[in-house]
Amino acid sequence: MSNVFVVDTMQKPLDPVHPGRARMLVSSGKAAVFRRFPFTIILKQEVHEPVTHPLRLKLDPGSKTTGIAIVNEGSGEVVWAAELSHRGNAIKEALDARRGVRRSRRQRKTRYRKPRFANRRRKQGWLPPSLESRLFTILTWVTRLSRYCPIASISQELVKFDMQAMNNPEIGGVEYQQGTLQGYEVREYLLEKWNRTCAYCGAKGVPLQIEHIQCRKKHGSNRVSNLCLACEPCNLKKGTQDIEVFLRNKPDVVKRLLTQAKAPLRDASAVNSTRWALYERLKATGLPVETGTGGMTKFHRMTQGLDKTHWIDAACVGASTPLILLIDRVHPLRIQATGHGCRQMCLMNRFGFPRAKPKSCKVVHGFQTGDIVKAIVTSGKKIGVYVGRVAVRASGSFNITTSVGTIQGVGYQQCTIIHKTDGYSYC
Ligand SMILES: [Zn+2]
Repeated sequence: MSNVFVVDTMQKPLDPVHPGRARMLVSSGKAAVFRRFPFTIILKQEVHEPVTHPLRLKLDPGSKTTGIAIVNEGSGEVVWAAELSHRGNAIKEALDARRGVRRSRRQRKTRYRKPRFANRRRKQGWLPPSLESRLFTILTWVTRLSRYCPIASISQELVKFDMQAMNNPEIGGVEYQQGTLQGYEVREYLLEKWNRTCAYCGAKGVPLQIEHIQCRKKHGSNRVSNLCLACEPCNLKKGTQDIEVFLRNKPDVVKRLLTQAKAPLRDASAVNSTRWALYERLKATGLPVETGTGGMTKFHRMTQGLDKTHWIDAACVGASTPLILLIDRVHPLRIQATGHGCRQMCLMNRFGFPRAKPKSCKVVHGFQTGDIVKAIVTSGKKIGVYVGRVAVRASGSFNITTSVGTIQGVGYQQCTIIHKTDGYSYC
């Protein structure tokens, strides 16, 4: 289990503690459970002049899942980690469905409507709702975590490759720097740009070497626009020849190669508006924000021999990454954004007619769909103890989704809430 967050009597964050220590504090009555997700305890006695160690919150924003890690820079310990799954797709589907319903409704009224499609304006910095939701969920967790944990700085992966550093011709002899971050990032960039194939013969799946199109002897530069990848035989064969001489029988290859070399890689992340928007909003929190490149993240991960998961990637973001990350004890919290229910009153059949009665209420006997409950069933067919997400019915007979499956028809009398719904489900 990851470390446990601790807040003092005034709900100010203290240093997270080992889960064993947290258990001891709770069982000896010195603390109580404050919140289930993320697991937080509150001290019952005041601490005089508490000492906290600043922690760094690290984010690796992804389109479906964002990795979150809280790292103690001094000790290199990953204190807490999570993987946050977004609901961008669900939002898009819901809006598409709504659009369809509205369109069919309009078409049922056959009166004349003036065309009105050229009168919409979008504010500067507008993002589609699905992307906006990703930003909101990340920011929700940034504020939430800084409430329970002394976070002093933020790291975010912003772009895939640092184009400015790479086009800097001052970086001497890329091929002699293999292993250092600079060489690594250039190499990764070239692998992506040249599609992991030899630029001269198109060989795939062979070891590739960084190759100067105009060779160094003839004053070819180290700029990435003069670099490509070649397999060893091609590299040796070309030697210091000019590319036109080397490929004199293949003029079309020369042409394609030269245009591809000039064209910068359309870096998906560099134009990724969501990441830049996130960066702006993280800066607005007032905490110092450090940015890193994807190449740097991968470099840190590979040099430490770590697996590729979202939360480990997050822990490796940025230049501040400790030389040795301690990740043994970490079990990331899996967070799934579920939203806060929908406003639709009636389910429809495929013709748009109501299929069931309108929803009568959202809160049933104090329970709401999405609450995490503990149900102790002592009689009947479903004897047992269940902990999971509840789906309420107006009748008071609920469904509980646990990690193993859904249990239907549990009475509200048997349920107790352990975590009120907050738009996320956890496991
Ligand atoms: Zn080749």
